[in-house]
Amino acid sequence: MKQVGDWRTHNRNRQGRWGPVRGVILHHTGTRGTERTVELCRDGYPGLPGPVCHAVIDKRGVVWLVGWGRTNHAGLGDPDVLGAVIHEEPLPADGEASVDGNPWFYGFECVNLGDGYDPWPAVQVDAMVRASAALIKAHGWGLDGDTSLIGHKEWQPGKPDPRGLDMRELRRRVAAMVRGASTPPAAPGSDAPPPSPSPPSRPAPADVDWWADIPIKSDKPPSRDYTWW
Ligand SMILES: [Zn+2]
Repeated sequence: MKQVGDWRTHNRNRQGRWGPVRGVILHHTGTRGTERTVELCRDGYPGLPGPVCHAVIDKRGVVWLVGWGRTNHAGLGDPDVLGAVIHEEPLPADGEASVDGNPWFYGFECVNLGDGYDPWPAVQVDAMVRASAALIKAHGWGLDGDTSLIGHKEWQPGKPDPRGLDMRELRRRVAAMVRGASTPPAAPGSDAPPPSPSPPSRPAPADVDWWADIPIKSDKPPSRDYTWW
């Protein structure tokens, strides 16, 4: 995990509401190249000021924290989908775009061209699952259902991202991770065995630099030759 500049206070809170946050949205960036993508997600571009997400997840599975608070990632989406997320009910199809999602969702921008050919490395998808599960577990979501995690393509009609990923499978993996460490005790009178103690959390990989501050070159204008999602 990398901390980028002043990510803790880099947000759009003065431009609109932030919270109560109720879920996580996954995106693909439509870009290639970690450094360029992290700068773009932090700074934004003409027409869409940054931060445009809370964290970038690169192809090596590194999570780059770029913002905290309201960020420009969700845009307008379907109020019925939001209701399903809040109540952890099965998702309806996204049929309209009428609710500002930025107060309600964390956003992870995941480096992928989104062309249907650019592969999703297992280590990247694993980081997406683990980062989502960490937020969902910290909030106490995900105990009654698995729809605290959605794809942008499930929020806003016409959005394709994250292309190539089965959100149902990702939800299954996140739910297993969230519930695995918080198994409810057996009901009184039940003959079910008592829950086994939680396994120790996995140690951080050796190359994770939890406290690195990544300086950002503020004099460099954002690139314009990308497709954004
Ligand atoms: Zn998106």
